[in-house]
Amino acid sequence: MRRTNLFIKTLKNAPADEQAKNAQLLIRAGYVYKVMAGVYAYTPLGIRVVEKIKQIVREEMNAINGCELIMSALQRPDTWTGTGRWDDDVVDVWFKTHLKDGHEVGLAWSHEEAIIEMLKQHVNSYKDLPQSVYQFQTKFRNELRSKSGVMRGREFVMKDMYSVHATQEDMDKYYDTVIEAYKRVFDRLGIGNKTFVTFASGGAFTKFSHEFQTICEAGEDTLYTDEENTVAVNEEVLDDATQEIGIDKSTLKPVVSAEVGNIFKFGTEKSESMGFTYTDKDGMQKPIFLASYGIGVTRVMGVIAEMMSDEKGLVWHSNVAPYHVYLVAIGDISEHADMLYKELESNGIEVLYDDRDERPGTKFADAELMGIPIRLVLSQRTLDENNAEITYRQTGETTTVNLEEVATQIKDKIQL
Ligand code: ATP
Ligand code: MG
Repeated sequence: MRRTNLFIKTLKNAPADEQAKNAQLLIRAGYVYKVMAGVYAYTPLGIRVVEKIKQIVREEMNAINGCELIMSALQRPDTWTGTGRWDDDVVDVWFKTHLKDGHEVGLAWSHEEAIIEMLKQHVNSYKDLPQSVYQFQTKFRNELRSKSGVMRGREFVMKDMYSVHATQEDMDKYYDTVIEAYKRVFDRLGIGNKTFVTFASGGAFTKFSHEFQTICEAGEDTLYTDEENTVAVNEEVLDDATQEIGIDKSTLKPVVSAEVGNIFKFGTEKSESMGFTYTDKDGMQKPIFLASYGIGVTRVMGVIAEMMSDEKGLVWHSNVAPYHVYLVAIGDISEHADMLYKELESNGIEVLYDDRDERPGTKFADAELMGIPIRLVLSQRTLDENNAEITYRQTGETTTVNLEEVATQIKDKIQL
């Protein structure tokens, strides 16, 4: 992509009304546009990061037989009245409105009831089980507070997956498979070493649910971990959980963290309340076992921005960076730079080519603020030696590379 074709602009200063570091950086670097508190739009640059996060999640969910679908944002009240969750006293984050004919509708803050209603039509017999479906959807939540930037939106993207099973054993087995898939997701997102599967408060079926919590100063949760980070427990269930696993709670230390994922087993509780049954081999009606699995896609983007940034700006991991390379040509050498740009792109390398009529310093500052993993500089001086200059955003290290080897070296570095 040529920078002159990208409408985004970087800003010197963050908007005065934005308190969260993630949003300040993402706005300054041109990834998001603030519409109002807790509501953000994603620019052509921002959407590339969101899509990369989604793609990693998608690949891992597909690998465990998840089927992607997409539900509707608009919800009928009667989908939710049966479980009591249309009631604003029970769920206090609903956005509700009316159709022209007067009927009330709501904007989905979750799709649990909605997906069960849909699955009821498709899953009737033991032959239809197990199934696992997921989606990426915008969720709407009328959150009371929204001071954490994109980490707590009133409108945000979630991946939610639901699995249905004939037996508890089958559900338990699949649930463990999802935990492993989630670990792979967070590893690939570059936050695996700071993300923990934790004991959190459960539903009616199990005592505990599991949350994926990432240690991050901007988080809103407190996590208790041991020295080696082998145990992680949420503050809200500390006494219960430490008792259950038989450890002394005084050996655990608090750290601030952000909930990036939450998975839990409904067992048959929800299917019973919604009349979701299947016919077993003997023709008997049995309630279906259900579990659900969420990941906060846009929250993850905020968490990464918080964790991987410095005084110059963002520092994306190459797996989620909007582009791998920021190409800067110095001087009147655009013909050569154009050729290099094309060569890199034909090698599958994603290049943001700063072809603007700006000073090199301005371009360098943008490359750093945007956090593109590799800055590639071509000048008359480097050209005379048949070289280009590579600078890694993460380490600041600069190396000179022969023009013939640039593409191979970059592909190697970003593991393309
Ligand atoms: P929280 O405790 O942070 O309010 P939650 O437990 O209500 O979150 P879930 O219903 O478990 O959230 O949603 C699944 C995932 O969606 C969460 O683990 C989190 O990563 C993400 N998420 C929840 N609320 C928001 C929000 N307002 N903005 C962005 N992401 C969110
Ligand atoms: Mg949760």
